[in-house]
Amino acid sequence: MTNINKKIYYNGKIFTSDPENLFAEMMIIEGKKISWIGKEKNYGKKKYNTDKFKKIDLKGKCIIPGFIDSHMHAIYLARDASKIACLPPNVNSIEELKERIKDKKKELNKGEWIEGWGYDEGKLKEGRSPNRYDLDEVAKDYPVIITRTCNHIAVVNSKALEILGIDESTPEPGENQIDKDENGKLTGIFRENAMMFLNSRIPSNSLEEDAEILANYGEKLFAHGITTITDSMAKIKPVDYYKMYQKAIEKGLKQRAILYYKWDELKDNYFIEKTKKDLTSQVHIGGVKILADGSVSGKTAWVKPSYLGENDNFGLKTTSKKEILEAAEYAKKNDLQLVVHAMGEQAIDLIVNTFYKKEDWLSDRPSVRVEHAAMPTKEALRKAAKGNIAFVSQPIFMYAEIESYLNNLGKTRTKRNYPYKTILESGIKLAFSSDAPATAWADPVDPFTALKSAVIRKAYDGTDTGQDEKVDLETAIRLYTKEGADITGIPRTGQLKKGYKADFIVLDKDIFEVEENKIDEVNVEKTYMNGELVYKK
Ligand SMILES: [Zn+2]
Repeated sequence: MTNINKKIYYNGKIFTSDPENLFAEMMIIEGKKISWIGKEKNYGKKKYNTDKFKKIDLKGKCIIPGFIDSHMHAIYLARDASKIACLPPNVNSIEELKERIKDKKKELNKGEWIEGWGYDEGKLKEGRSPNRYDLDEVAKDYPVIITRTCNHIAVVNSKALEILGIDESTPEPGENQIDKDENGKLTGIFRENAMMFLNSRIPSNSLEEDAEILANYGEKLFAHGITTITDSMAKIKPVDYYKMYQKAIEKGLKQRAILYYKWDELKDNYFIEKTKKDLTSQVHIGGVKILADGSVSGKTAWVKPSYLGENDNFGLKTTSKKEILEAAEYAKKNDLQLVVHAMGEQAIDLIVNTFYKKEDWLSDRPSVRVEHAAMPTKEALRKAAKGNIAFVSQPIFMYAEIESYLNNLGKTRTKRNYPYKTILESGIKLAFSSDAPATAWADPVDPFTALKSAVIRKAYDGTDTGQDEKVDLETAIRLYTKEGADITGIPRTGQLKKGYKADFIVLDKDIFEVEENKIDEVNVEKTYMNGELVYKK
């Protein structure tokens, strides 16, 4: 009798991400795990012909491991699906944004919040950020908030300001965080902590609603081949993300999920039970997240030299060494990773200098991670390698936001950003991810766009983003799978290897044979997780 729990997948072109056995043809899956993988000729004929297995002919199709998105914001991404996408092709100008707001009003009751995401003034026809007056023209009675692509800047209308009780006399949480015009009037634009303050006062979804949204979004993520997701800005209040993700799992979310809690939420010595940190649980808390600076596109990354044509603008430092050490102390006490957002040279230096001589407190994954790591100096690379500090970066950033990079950093410096080849040669552990939805791209979570960007080092419009820093496709996939597993610490995932979880995707084209600039045209035909078919196109 055929045991349906034993399956032989044969006649495939299987990329394993396992450096010892990069390509295979056949894979045996027993239950949730791979029990054998390799070349067909290396498997004993006698066993192969046995009737105990269900045989599945892969018909020469290309298989790769399920993607691990080590830095993303799954709940934001899922919520965004119900908001106005303020980027091409949906919105190309402030005028079009106004039209979309008018459309949205028809779906809502008077007084309900209209939310939008993803605008980038570099992509808008008017070449400027929308302001409160633009939004007022089409939404007098509805509060409106539109978040910039970087997720560090937002613009609201007058109704929103009125509801939130914010006016010219509201104190700023830091320098230049609430924009005012030449007459001292609010323009509606809020940055960094001021934006977070604003966000914290907007009524949010209930735990049930968010869990539902998240569970439904799982299917979309499987369509991209993503089997492990993360939340890199998890909160405790008003809703505890751990509970939200658990609820989402009850409602059908199948992906593994790792949560990184914001330091602000934990610093009053919040107690995390051991069971919530179990790396083998479908959802678990993986680390403490802290931000050292802002974004390149928002000119808030803490850089050195200064931004192009602005001799005294070095961006924003959003933490201090003292605070980072406090967060690290908490992480150490709680067996958590310290996950630091750092893009500019000065922000990366701050983290690397603080930790490169310190001892690791985790043994199953890097203790300290630098997220984004756009502009590491040579010295920072040397120290990060020495200190076992991992980088988690997003190849889609320069691909999608090239206008901002060129405008804010210039051509030459842009090409030196995200020096993936050099990072790897320095011996630093590196993983790829999306940071979705914080990217000016209509489908920000798509791993294939990111792979293409890393392989061709060109932006969507063809601009060269640094040919010297290309990585080959095999490496790019490995960084989105195996290295993601190593850095997040989820055991036995990320590779197709004996004893590993059977998380894999079947592609509609041979990704290793398509032209490099068509890597993003490869689609996922099927996604398997724990040996089970979870998505079929
Ligand atoms: Zn992020």
